[in-house]
Amino acid sequence: MNAIGISGGLLAVIFAIALVLFFRMRRLRPQMAGYATQRMCPACGLITPRSKAACLECGKSFVSDPPVRQIHK
Ligand SMILES: [Zn+2]
Repeated sequence: MNAIGISGGLLAVIFAIALVLFFRMRRLRPQMAGYATQRMCPACGLITPRSKAACLECGKSFVSDPPVRQIHK
């Protein structure tokens, strides 16, 4: 019966799990960031960087991206 040894071991296990989760998140984050900076052209389907205002392949402008509200009068 060694309470300090048990709690110390438990702390080490928790620390190890936290470390694994941390590295797993770090590995995933660049992919997610890369995905967020790219978009698919609605016209031709080419993956285009979000920083571009228009598609590199077909030249379709992404400026008209905000949802168009169709108001029926
Ligand atoms: Zn396109």
